[in-house]
Amino acid sequence: MTKKVLVTGGTGLYGKAIEAVIKEDEAAKDEEWVFLSSKDGDLVDRKAVEAIFEKHKPTHVIHLAAKVGGLFHNMRKKVDFYRDNTLINDNVMECCRIYGVKKLVSCLSTCIFPDKTSYPIDETMLHNGAPHTSNLGYSCAKRMVDVLNHCYKDQYDLNYTSVIPTNIYGEFDNYSIDDGHVIPGLIHKCYIAKRDGTDLTIWGSGSPLRQFIYSKDLAWLTVWTLRNYDSVEPIILSVDEEAEVSIKFVAEAIAKAMDFQGKVVCDTSKADGQHKKTASNKKLRSFLPDHKFTPFEEGIKKSVDWFVANYETCRK
Ligand code: NDP
Repeated sequence: MTKKVLVTGGTGLYGKAIEAVIKEDEAAKDEEWVFLSSKDGDLVDRKAVEAIFEKHKPTHVIHLAAKVGGLFHNMRKKVDFYRDNTLINDNVMECCRIYGVKKLVSCLSTCIFPDKTSYPIDETMLHNGAPHTSNLGYSCAKRMVDVLNHCYKDQYDLNYTSVIPTNIYGEFDNYSIDDGHVIPGLIHKCYIAKRDGTDLTIWGSGSPLRQFIYSKDLAWLTVWTLRNYDSVEPIILSVDEEAEVSIKFVAEAIAKAMDFQGKVVCDTSKADGQHKKTASNKKLRSFLPDHKFTPFEEGIKKSVDWFVANYETCRK
């Protein structure tokens, strides 16, 4: 049987990167890949999800679609983040079972780990305490994917697993200043500051630390997971711990990539979120010890150039 891979959330930051990686992948030439957008059906709606599975009959699924947003959007809409993501995940996972999908890779996030924890975080700690209150709704919905993966294994012996990426950045991101993640938000703010001759303002102190992964690196690792990783236990897909950077460093890298000559300042009246959430990629490194990640400055330059070139039409 030909492998038919359905990618939910195929038009977002992560999905577009998988599409780009697949275009250049020899091994994908004999496979059929389908990239879904919300226009193909609202995954919150069970009937729409059934229709999608009926139409495509996938053998493999990479499930990326989610209601996603930055810190401030998550803080404002906790119920919406919980309910939409719970319904999407339940519909997709159950349809995978009903329609005989052989392998499902779903997507979690390092921001769903316990707030009070030891560092570095690893895959065994996912349920060891409450998540940070800022994204409680999103985190609890996502954690249930891991619970269900184990349940599907125990009850139906299915090969369903999950990846846990750190913060992603790259082309096709959501550059909304109010609702987006920190890198696309800062890129957009830097563009405006350069255009209007104002300061580039970081929301918060600039001191929180994060690991960022370039979307195409993550895409390659996700395809690798689909083909090679056969455990129900989640796997963290992250750059090394040493690659953790402060938000201030990120803002300065963006300013450099955009040739912004003005001042970079911090608005400390805004929330910082978790100070850090350092994740260990030891499990990933046990499979791919020599894997090379795109250097941060290089990935930022590509993201900034893409935003400038697509300013009129991109999400913002
Ligand atoms: P985007 O917002 O860029 O893309 C979201 C995708 O999901 C889009 O294709 C969107 O379709 C689709 N989608 C959203 N809601 C629905 C719905 N109700 N029905 C059908 N499709 C829907 O998000 P990312 O690419 O950043 O995120 C992808 C995954 O990665 C998510 O599961 C997220 O939790 C996870 N993740 C993201 C991180 C990040 O830093 N961005 C970090 C860690 C994990 P459309 O384009 O039509 O709107």
